[in-house]
Order: sequence, then structure tokens, then C-alpha cells
Amino acid sequence: MPIAVVRAEAYYLPPPPPRGDPHAWDGMPAAERVFHWIEYRLSRRTVIPTSVIPDVPPVYARINQNRWLGDCVCGAACIVSPTDPRYGCTECGYGWVELVFPEDVATVEAEMLLTPQPHLRNWWHPLDPANPYTPQPEPQPEPEPEGGTL
Ligand SMILES: [Zn+2]
Repeated sequence: MPIAVVRAEAYYLPPPPPRGDPHAWDGMPAAERVFHWIEYRLSRRTVIPTSVIPDVPPVYARINQNRWLGDCVCGAACIVSPTDPRYGCTECGYGWVELVFPEDVATVEAEMLLTPQPHLRNWWHPLDPANPYTPQPEPQPEPEPEGGTL
């Protein structure tokens, strides 16, 4: 069975026994898991955003080496999930902002599984201004010279 594309709820997990309960975060919104994970893994206090930042561009989710990622305006990134399309940053406090996923997440994830090596699975949203792989126009054939040879 191929390795699935990693989402926040599969990566940001609570401490294992005996320190923690593996089901302690069941039902927690996926976008909030990273804040709790940073606290227990790095022993650093984080502040979960309490409101949506109005009138800012969305964050486009992308797949980087088999992980759904959201990139912050500050340069940080975290693993995100299509089950909770919000982005908030544990580094600079930015958030919540809209997190844009493809219309058909299942199709994009299925396409990723066609590449057997997870580290080679990368995908960018076509509308993401940071997408380095924007479609280029097809090269047009050179027009035939008019008239005969000189
Ligand atoms: Zn940030």
C-alpha cells in the first residue's frame, strides 16, 4: 500500500503513553494541532489565533515531499489539512487566514500516489502566485516566409 499524502492530523499527534493519551486530540480541529504540538515538542508557548484577519490574500496549500504545507508570509510553514482550511502561524502569530486547497483533493492525492517515492511528490495550486511552474504558452511555429526565394 502506498504511503498516503501526510495531513496535519496524521503528523501532529499528542504525546504517546505513558506521558499522554494517543486519542487526546481526537476531534481537535486540524489547523490547531500544530500549536499544541509545538508546545509539547519544543516546550514553547504558542497562541492560537482567535479571529480571522480580514482583507488579506489567502494562503495556497501545496504538497511538498508528500506533505500538505501552508507557507506563512514570514517564511515559516506548517503541515495543514483539507479538513480544516485555515492557516495560522506558530512563529509570527499570523492568522487565521483562508487556506485554499484544490477543488478535488482526492484526485490530487491520487495523482501523488502514482509517484512511488514520497520525497518526489510535489504539487502547487495553479492559482498560487508563488507557483514556479506556471503554464507557458505553446511555442508558435515560425511563419513561412512570403514570396519566393531571393
Ligand atoms: Zn508566520
